[in-house]
Amino acid sequence: MRDRVFNFSAGPAAIPTPVLEKARDELLSFEGSGMSIMEMSHRSARFEEVLAKAADGLRELLALPEHFHILFIQGGPTLQFSMIPMNLLPPGQVADHIVTGAWGAKAAIEAGKFGTIRRAFDGSASGFTTVPDLGELSFSPTAAFVQYTSNETIDGVQFHEELDAGGIPVVCDMSSDILSRPIDADKYGLIFAGAQKNIGPSGVTVVIIREDLIERVPDGLPYLLDYREYVRQGSMPNTPNTWGIYLIGLVCDWLREQGGVDVIEVRNRRKAAILYDVIDSSEGFYTGHADRGSRSLMNVTFRLPSAEIDERFCIEAEAAGLDGLRGHRSVGGVRASIYNAMPESGVAALADFMSDFMHRNG
Ligand SMILES: *Cc1c(COP(=O)(O)O)cnc(C)c1O
Repeated sequence: MRDRVFNFSAGPAAIPTPVLEKARDELLSFEGSGMSIMEMSHRSARFEEVLAKAADGLRELLALPEHFHILFIQGGPTLQFSMIPMNLLPPGQVADHIVTGAWGAKAAIEAGKFGTIRRAFDGSASGFTTVPDLGELSFSPTAAFVQYTSNETIDGVQFHEELDAGGIPVVCDMSSDILSRPIDADKYGLIFAGAQKNIGPSGVTVVIIREDLIERVPDGLPYLLDYREYVRQGSMPNTPNTWGIYLIGLVCDWLREQGGVDVIEVRNRRKAAILYDVIDSSEGFYTGHADRGSRSLMNVTFRLPSAEIDERFCIEAEAAGLDGLRGHRSVGGVRASIYNAMPESGVAALADFMSDFMHRNG
C-alpha cells in the first residue's frame, strides 16, 4: 500500500490524519457500543451527543452567539442556492448578489428562479480575477439580503474583509474557507458551508442562521426545504448524515488542539505565502490567476506557459506524491488547495517541486 500522499484536491479534500486515525479506531465499536457510528440510530442518546458535540465545536471555534442556530443539512451548498431564496426572499423584494466567481454566479442564477435578484458586483467580464472593495458597493433599498462567497474555490479569489451591509442581512457561502480564520459572527444573517472542503466529508452542509431570519420563512414550503423544520427538530426532520456530523465533531476537536482559528489563520497565511512567492519569483513561468489583493489563502490558482505544460506538471507532481493539482474542469490550469488539513510540509514539498520543475522546463 502506498503511503498517504499530499492531497491538494479542492473537495472532497484532505482531512487531518489524526481525525482519520481516531475514526478508524472507533469504527467497529463507537465508545464501547459494539457498533459503528454508521450503524447507530440517529435517535439514540449517543448520537444526540455526537450532534451536540459537532454543533458546540463549531459554536466555540466561530464564537457564535446563542441567537444563531447551527443546522446540518444534506444536498450540499448547491441546495442552499435554492433554499436561501425560497426561505428568505419574499415576493416584492430583491436579493443582491456579489458575484466574484463560479459558485457565486451559480447561486445568483438559481436565486433568480425564485424572485428578483440584482448583481451588486459581477466579476465575470474580467474572468473572476478580483474581489471588489466591499465599502464601495451599494445595495438595493428593498434588499431582503445580500449574498456573497467569501472564497471562490474554482477561481482562487477571496475576500480579506467582511461585509457590513448596513443592516441588510448578509448571506455568505463560506464552503471553502470556514474555520480557516476567525469571523465576526454579528456581521452575518446566514452562513453556509459544505463540509467537504475544510471541515469534513461530503454530504453534510453546515447552515448557521440568525434567529430573527427564521421568522421570515413563509408557510407552505416542502418539508425538507423549510429551515424551520431543522430548527424545530434539532437538524433531524429526517435521518441526517450521521457519519458526516461525527467527523465534523472530530475535526473541531483537532482544530482546538491546534490552538483554534487564530492559530490556524497564521499557519494558513504562511502556507499561501510560500506558494505565491514561488509564483512571483518565477519570472513569468508561473502566472497567478487572481489579482494580488484578491488572492485566496485556500486555493492557489496558476498557469504554466501552455496547457500542455500544465498537464505535464500535474502528471509529474502526482508521481512525486503531490495529488489533486489539476484546475477545475471549467477553467483548466493548476490549483493547489491548501485547507487547514494541509500541513506546512506538504506546501514546502510542492514549492520545491515547482522550483525544480521550472528549472527543468524553463
Ligand atoms: C464546493 C462548493 C460548492 C458546491 O458544493 P456541492 O457540495 O457540490 O453542492 C458551493 N460553493 C462553494 C464556495 C464551494 O466551494
